[in-house]
Amino acid sequence: HPYPVGIAFQDGQYIPVSEAKISVLDYGFLHSDATYDTVHVWDGAFFRLDDHIERFLSGVERLRMELPVNPEEIRQILHNCVALSGHRRAYVEMVCTRGTAANFSRDPREATNRFLAFAVPYGSVANDEQLRRGLHITIADITRIPPGSVDPKIKNYHWLDLIMGLYDAYDKGRETALLLDADGNISEGPGFNVFAVRDGSLSTPARGVLPGITRRTVIEICAAKGINAQEGNLSQERLRSSDEIFVTSTAGGIMPVTQIDGQPVGSGKIGPITDCLKCAYWGWHKDSRFIDIVSYPG
Ligand code: PMP
Repeated sequence: HPYPVGIAFQDGQYIPVSEAKISVLDYGFLHSDATYDTVHVWDGAFFRLDDHIERFLSGVERLRMELPVNPEEIRQILHNCVALSGHRRAYVEMVCTRGTAANFSRDPREATNRFLAFAVPYGSVANDEQLRRGLHITIADITRIPPGSVDPKIKNYHWLDLIMGLYDAYDKGRETALLLDADGNISEGPGFNVFAVRDGSLSTPARGVLPGITRRTVIEICAAKGINAQEGNLSQERLRSSDEIFVTSTAGGIMPVTQIDGQPVGSGKIGPITDCLKCAYWGWHKDSRFIDIVSYPG
């Protein structure tokens, strides 16, 4: 079956995710005119659900869309999708598309915006082997879409640059990619932010990237541990001369990188700061400040 087992919410109903449908005339499908967010459930609890809903609502507002559901309803719908799916480790997505307009009008203001959500099994950017030995990445020959064109703070489906970055990586025998911005600095990769560690300090790109919630979590963990973490320009040279590199995503958490373009990062082994942050990250999944426990039926 091409679909993972899971539950979707659509038009007021909870249905198997394989039955959720979207019109071919929806602006979301035709023009990537949509915003979304993904949050994960780990061992039966959402991680930073409020932060994900808040980022989603801000994207909806910036795109001048109107949700047919309020924030409390979204929270309830996401809880219900997970509870009905039975997944204790889940990947949960909420989406708002521009929708369709009568008579296929080209005026986006005439479209009725749509909301849908689903919960499927948890997935990671890096597979088990890659998590054990670190990802082997490339710096792609593709430039990330500039922030003046598509606001990267809005989580969006403009992924063609990221997808072509992945193909560039595969062509070079690598596993995933980082894209450069128009100035030649590092931006982000297909579904993740990046951190470089040198001499015990962290650095992560600030402009032209999604303000990832895993990225924010790393910065907060660093503040709590007294580790220096800076947001700012990250040059290719700086990245290539790092002691450690890791990427961050809701899909996988903190994931080590041990090779760039065939060259080892630092010692070529997963570094101690990456290990320590990864451990703290999963530790925060037991912290009541950040989790919302799902009530499963039966
Ligand atoms: N950048 C992009 C382009 C993404 O799609 C994502 C993940 N969805 C991220 C970064 C990481 O964000 P987060 O930590 O909130 O999952």
